[in-house]
Amino acid sequence: MASGYKFERSLDVIARVDVLVCGAGCAGTVAAIAAAREGASVMVVEDRGFAGGYITGVIGASFDGWVDLRSGLPVVGGVVAEFARAAAGRDDAMDVAFSPSNELREMKETPDKGKIRFGIESFKRQADRMFREAGVKVLYYTRVCDVIRNGDRADAVVVATKAGLGIIHAKTIVDATGDADAAAYAGAAFDISDEMQPMSLHFCMGNVKVDANTRDQASAAVAKAHARGELQVYGGPWIGRLEDDTHVYVNACRAPGSGIDQTDLTRAEIQGRLDAKTMFDAFKREVPAFADAYLASTGPFAGVRETRRIVGDKTLTATDVEEERPQSDVVALGAWYLDRHPKHQSGYHMHTVVRPYDIAFGTLCPKGLSNLMVAGRCHSADSVALASSRVTVTCMGMGQAAGTATAMALANGGDVRAVGITNLQNRLLDRGAIILDRAEKILRVGDKMENKPVSAVR
Ligand SMILES: Cc1cc2nc3c(=O)[nH]c(=O)nc-3n(C[C@H](O)[C@H](O)[C@H](O)COP(=O)(O)OP(=O)(O)OC[C@H]3O[C@@H](n4cnc5c(N)ncnc54)[C@H](O)[C@@H]3O)c2cc1C
Repeated sequence: MASGYKFERSLDVIARVDVLVCGAGCAGTVAAIAAAREGASVMVVEDRGFAGGYITGVIGASFDGWVDLRSGLPVVGGVVAEFARAAAGRDDAMDVAFSPSNELREMKETPDKGKIRFGIESFKRQADRMFREAGVKVLYYTRVCDVIRNGDRADAVVVATKAGLGIIHAKTIVDATGDADAAAYAGAAFDISDEMQPMSLHFCMGNVKVDANTRDQASAAVAKAHARGELQVYGGPWIGRLEDDTHVYVNACRAPGSGIDQTDLTRAEIQGRLDAKTMFDAFKREVPAFADAYLASTGPFAGVRETRRIVGDKTLTATDVEEERPQSDVVALGAWYLDRHPKHQSGYHMHTVVRPYDIAFGTLCPKGLSNLMVAGRCHSADSVALASSRVTVTCMGMGQAAGTATAMALANGGDVRAVGITNLQNRLLDRGAIILDRAEKILRVGDKMENKPVSAVR
């Protein structure tokens, strides 16, 4: 096997900052704002031209993980709640009661009651505004492609822009790329499951008129297309409302493969576009609500549920989630179902109900690195636990913790572990986070509830 080329080049330093946030998805957006509010000079670099990651780039408009599934009480506060209130355009966005109804029924009977829905464009503008107000420097169209490591420190990040390669020096780094790109490039250990959840290209339809039968009819239509051999594998379908009831997105394409392999990603896009058209045609033929619909868009890019999970000081396990095991270094709460999409099965799958559970600081700290934390779906969790902790709001909670910790670490030469967990927890509580006693209160309210939601195929 021929060895590769040796690549040597001097690169310009294009920026020096206290805290560099890699990726402006749900976790990175909140991390950058939280760090800047602690007084750090913060830059966020993002590969795409807008913030939001999955939620704006894949087209899906519900923030999940807000509430204890039993009591309906919010489990995430602080800048996360502030962001959601503004993105949803309503002050009572944190007070919505949880209703375990499906998307279409919810849309018809209890609009905006079960989940916080917001406009995708409003998320993007909201992120831009909050970055500006907090003093975060933003570089879109900037991809992290390497990390320069010095002992246990990640000293600088190599970025690719249209101008070529450049260096950004940072005292501390938050890796919120979803795929742990920066941590992996710095040589941190990570796990990848053989049973990694599949990718999905969403598509949007306009001019629809949904009613209470639509979900079942849509489900039957794709099942028949599958039986005819027109679709290899699909999920759901889950159909969610966008800005109004005449415009929906469909989460149903399912592409097994790795979201960090460009061949698999390319296949997810190409097959996804074909499957979207197949489903759309079946919907138009067989679902009255979609008879006059048009296929508005796919993507813009395929959504990736699971790739690298870093090996952290601690790892969140499925048992931790199912038994709500307390973590002394808790910095955020998760609360969403164990919602693990099977890569080769079609249709709906089991959603296991969980109670609010602790996410430990140690799951955000890659072993061997002192000044780099991760936030979001690449944190240290086993693949089953990640099926819950991967959702948007939980990722935002981790972003708040990592942004706050990396800014506080500046006082200790950038060593995030030297911040001290009590100091960090107290600061997070000051900033409105829901952990420790506040979490206890939510659990106690839920314990008294009579109608307990149960695990179900959804
Ligand atoms: C199809 C699908 C449907 C889902 N449905 C829901 C749902 O209904 N509700 C819910 O709450 N959750 C849902 N999820 C899960 C959830 O949206 C994601 O797991 C969560 O948003 C992850 O947040 P994150 O910030 O960790 O990563 P991401 O949202 O993936 O953000 C990562 C960001 O980093 C950028 N980036 C990546 N690599 C680099 C790099 N090297 N350099 C610079 N930038 C980079 C990306 O462009 C992106 O903006 C869904 C996920 C998928 C895939």
